[in-house]
Parts: sequence; structure tokens; C-alpha cells
Amino acid sequence: MITYDILIVGAGHAGAACAIALRQRGFAGTLALVGEEAELPYERPPLSKDYLAGDKPFERLLIRPAAFWNERQVQMLTGRRVTAVDPAARVVATADGERIGYRELVWAAGGHPRRLACEGGDLPGVHAVRSRADVDRLVAELPGVARVAVIGGGYIGLEAAAVLRKLGREVVLLEAQDRVLARVAGAELSRFFASEHRGRGVDLRTGVAVAAIVGRDGRAAGVRLADGTAVAADLVIVGIGIVPAVEPLLAAGAAGGNGVAVDLHCATSLPHIHAIGDCALHANAFADAMPIRIESVGNANDQAATVAKALTGAPEPYAAVPWFWSNQYDLKLQTVGLSAGHDAEVVRGDPAARSFSVAYLKAGRVVALDCVNAVKDYVGGRALVAGRARVAPVRLADAAVPLKDMVAG
Ligand SMILES: Cc1cc2nc3c(=O)[nH]c(=O)nc-3n(C[C@H](O)[C@H](O)[C@H](O)COP(=O)(O)OP(=O)(O)OC[C@H]3O[C@@H](n4cnc5c(N)ncnc54)[C@H](O)[C@@H]3O)c2cc1C
Repeated sequence: MITYDILIVGAGHAGAACAIALRQRGFAGTLALVGEEAELPYERPPLSKDYLAGDKPFERLLIRPAAFWNERQVQMLTGRRVTAVDPAARVVATADGERIGYRELVWAAGGHPRRLACEGGDLPGVHAVRSRADVDRLVAELPGVARVAVIGGGYIGLEAAAVLRKLGREVVLLEAQDRVLARVAGAELSRFFASEHRGRGVDLRTGVAVAAIVGRDGRAAGVRLADGTAVAADLVIVGIGIVPAVEPLLAAGAAGGNGVAVDLHCATSLPHIHAIGDCALHANAFADAMPIRIESVGNANDQAATVAKALTGAPEPYAAVPWFWSNQYDLKLQTVGLSAGHDAEVVRGDPAARSFSVAYLKAGRVVALDCVNAVKDYVGGRALVAGRARVAPVRLADAAVPLKDMVAG
């Protein structure tokens, strides 16, 4: 059995960023990433954007080329799923029965797509958009597909809908809540994106519950809604979130539930085990220290840096400002901060002009911004969110005054 000084489970964004940061910080010990996918670490955001559209080849998604990992002596153990962790022996076991030892373990396993629990949810023709393999399977079926049902009006569902419209497919989008993006944005932004999608021909239906995926000849042929409505579709995309991939850690006794609980240095409750990225349940300063998981590239990178610092003797607590982006049609959305729990929304600019921002306030302080085709607001507004600035709503709404000039209050 080989034992690595640092073993990273999950060869995705966070795992790759952690390995890069460790080597950048001069860590010279043995280092390996073990990941269940066949590929070297790659960027997921293009999976629902340019890669799905066929505008970007897979090679351009790789976080680093193979030579980079070889040169830095980062062992890539791909195609291996870790199924058990023994924290006392400091050993992980894979599905194939391989045992790998570690001195320090970094758990960066992200999550698996949440599956539809209803009848027909696993029929051929029902697709998730989480991995390269998911998207390759989906794209291979597209030539025979005229009409797609997208279940879930979150970012991934909306991005996929935008690409499929561009590819000339009919799209019906089904959202259970009464508005799209309900989990992550305020009502104004939801209204804007719903109207954009409808304007591009998406049949967008909110407040609808999926009862079953209807099959024909052993393949998905549509969706039946709870009220009995039949929605015909040649292909179904399910974008209803992820289930954090933490079972082996929880089974080994780590604290957690919806993710694995970590402290400000990303340490789990188990000795010599850190966790980062989509699966890390942490008390976030931008969510009033509530334990949350953040599913974003920014968080994956920042928590990776936090662990690299902790493991190289220079610990610094995680305090990064959350940020995110989404591309739909010609719209570039950039968000900073976390809007959950806001008590006021202020619109800057004119949504009809397709360049505007929404500022979110909680108890009079700016907690988040959603900026649509408004890079200056995004850049200038970061400091407002970072400092939880107190700015009067009428001032925030004045698009003639740059947000950067409001930092002093
Ligand atoms: C379609 C899509 C679009 C996105 N768009 C954006 C965007 O526009 N902006 C943004 O900021 N973020 C976006 N994200 C989110 C972002 O990609 C994730 O937050 C980020 O990838 C998280 O990194 P991670 O390392 O935690 O997880 P991942 O990148 O998912 O990596 C985890 C890896 O661990 C592997 N793994 C899981 N369990 C095991 C196990 N038991 N053993 C071994 N390996 C395991 C997984 O297969 C995976 O390869 C998007 C995500 C998707 C899927």
C-alpha cells in the first residue's frame, strides 16, 4: 500500500486548486489526487454553456494539461471511487478494493446530481449536467431530438435552456417554485430572466410539480405533471441540485449532514481530514455565520487556498467574499455576496435596457449584488458587500453615481 503525505479525494475544481496551491507554497512531500472520473481535473461551468453548445473542445476545459501535473509530481489516480475512510489507520479504500494511505486527507468530492425521485426518473433520455460524461451522452442524443423538457429553473437549467434554444430545439422549462432562481436570487432578477427566456421562445412554466417521466419504447417521451398535464419531450434534462458526496466521511464519524461540517480552516471533526468545495458545510460570514455549502468555482478555489495554508504551517481563516457568474444568451450575470435573507432589493439601471444591477440589503446593509451586463457595478460593488456598507436605497438606485464612490457611506 502506498501512503501519500497529502491525499486529495476528488479530482475536480477544489482538489486541483488545492494541489496547485500546495506546490506553489513549496510543499515538497508526496501528493496524489484520487478521482472517480476518467478525466484530469476540468472546469465544470462550460458544461452547461460553451461545451454543451459545441463551441469549446474538451481539451480547453482542462484546468491544467497533463504535463503540468507530471512536472509538479502530482500523482493523478483517476477512475477510482473512494468508498471508505479509516481515520484511525489513515487509509482510504476504493470501490475496487485498493487501499491508499495518507498523512493528511483533503476531501474535495463535490456532489452528485440529485435524481428525480418519481416514476421514470432513470429512463434513458433523462440527463443530468454535472460531468463531461453526462454532457457527452446528452449531446450524442441531440441529433434525433426536437423538443427538450428541462426540469429545474436554477442556473444550470436556465443555461442549458439558453444553449438548446440556440441549437434550434424547442424547450419547455418546468420549475416547481413560483419563480426561477428562487433559491439564489430576488424576485426582480427572476422576473427578468423568466422574461428573457420567454422572449427567446422557451415555454417556461413555474409552480408546476413533476409527477412522472413518461416512457415510450423504453425511453423518456415526456413529463406528466401533478395536475395531469402531459408535456411531450424527446429528451429530459434534470437540474435540481446536488447531493454532497460525503457518505464515506459521515460513515467514518465526521460531523455533518447536508455536507461535511468544517471549521474556519476547513478542518472536519475527524483528525487529519480537511474538506473543501461544494461538499464543505461551513459557517459563512456572509450568511450571518449560518452553516452553508457554496457551489461555486470561487469558493472551491478559496477553500483550497485555505487548506493549502493550513497544511503548510501558515493558517489563515476562510473569509472570502462569495461570487458567481452565469451566461445565458448574450447576458452575463455576475453576483457577489449572498442575497438569502435580504429584506430589501434596489434596482440600479433599467432591466429593459438589459444592463442593470440589483442590490440586496439586510437591515440597511448591502449584502449582495446581482449585476446583469454591468461589470462596473460588479467590480465597484464588491467593496460594498465586503464591508457590508450602509447605503441609503435611493443613493444605491442612482445609476449616475458609481458604486465605488459609495464605499465610504
Ligand atoms: C453545469 C455546471 C455549471 C456551473 N457553472 C458555474 C458557474 O458559472 N460559475 C461558478 O462559479 N460555478 C459554476 N458551477 C459550480 C462549480 O463548477 C462547482 O462549484 C465546482 O466544480 C466545485 O468544485 P468541487 O471540487 O467541490 O467539486 P467538483 O468539481 O464536482 O469535483 C469533485 C470531484 O470528485 C469526484 N468524486 C465524487 N465522489 C468521489 C469519491 N467518492 N471518490 C473519488 N472521487 C469522487 C467527482 O466525480 C468530481 O470529479 C457549475 C457547475 C456545473 C455542474
